[in-house]
Amino acid sequence: MNVYPWQQAQWQRVAQAITADRLSHGLLLHGPAGIGLTRFSRVLAARLLCDRPDAAPACGACKACILVDSGNHPDLELIEPEEPGKQIKVEQIRDLIDFMHLKSQYGKYKIAIIEPAEAMNTNAANTLLKTLEEPPATSVLILNSHDPQRLPVTVRSRCQSIAFGLAGDSTAATWLGEQINDSGMDPEQLLQLAGAPLAALDMVEGKQIEQRQQLVDDLVHLGRSDADPVAVAGRWAGLETGVAVRWLQRLFMDMLKLKLSEQPPGFGSSDVIGRLRPLVNGLDLREIVSCCQLLARINAQLGSTVTYNKQALLEEFVFLWRSVATSGGVSQ
Ligand SMILES: [Zn+2]
Repeated sequence: MNVYPWQQAQWQRVAQAITADRLSHGLLLHGPAGIGLTRFSRVLAARLLCDRPDAAPACGACKACILVDSGNHPDLELIEPEEPGKQIKVEQIRDLIDFMHLKSQYGKYKIAIIEPAEAMNTNAANTLLKTLEEPPATSVLILNSHDPQRLPVTVRSRCQSIAFGLAGDSTAATWLGEQINDSGMDPEQLLQLAGAPLAALDMVEGKQIEQRQQLVDDLVHLGRSDADPVAVAGRWAGLETGVAVRWLQRLFMDMLKLKLSEQPPGFGSSDVIGRLRPLVNGLDLREIVSCCQLLARINAQLGSTVTYNKQALLEEFVFLWRSVATSGGVSQ
């Protein structure tokens, strides 16, 4: 039971606060998806509940640690949406507050992890605020968020903020390299593509690498007019929400960079650079920019609260791409 190697600095910070008995009652852990906030918050809970305070970060073997590990510790509550992607409701937060005010069964802390915290609706967040303002003595609320800007500023300001990232940290690439040593893929490149180590591992273990290759194939075929645009949009719409648009945005930003420089810095699509070059050569800058702009608009629409037809949005892009790519000579 330990935090990930790229989380050592953040761990030192909370460990020192625990030792000095000045850990905040409200913690906001935030960073990109796949950075490991879930693991960090569980280890922190185990550290606070563990029967052996000298074990670092937690012994992993005492009754408390085993109960935390199995999700059954009576002094630890996990609050998440009842279904993935849905909101955390005010009733869930009311139940949580009742739980926080009960006496601790093991005589230590009462801990709650809210994940993802930005899933709380306005009512839920406002209800939680009262507890953040007047927390029970030995309570710790841990809010995990990949998008903290979506939390009310009143909630954020009541929490100690702990940011997670990878800037200048090579331990994540080393770790990833150890996990994927048989795959033949470059961990640095994967990290760039995925944005975080666990997301990169998901890409390798899931079908995402193949799906992204297929998406590049689709772009090439559309440019040669030998793919059915509606079928392509349907295939992209079938991917997890937003994934196709995110990959396309990355690819087209990189195409823009390729248009401007032979060896562009910060290039994220090195694995497909050989296939992007002929596409880029047949286009002018203005056409690539218009693709980027349309993708940005589609991405904003998919992320908004209005329900859009995913297939129709993607078809709009597919037809734009086909028209610029076929007129620009990509087909040759
Ligand atoms: Zn323990």
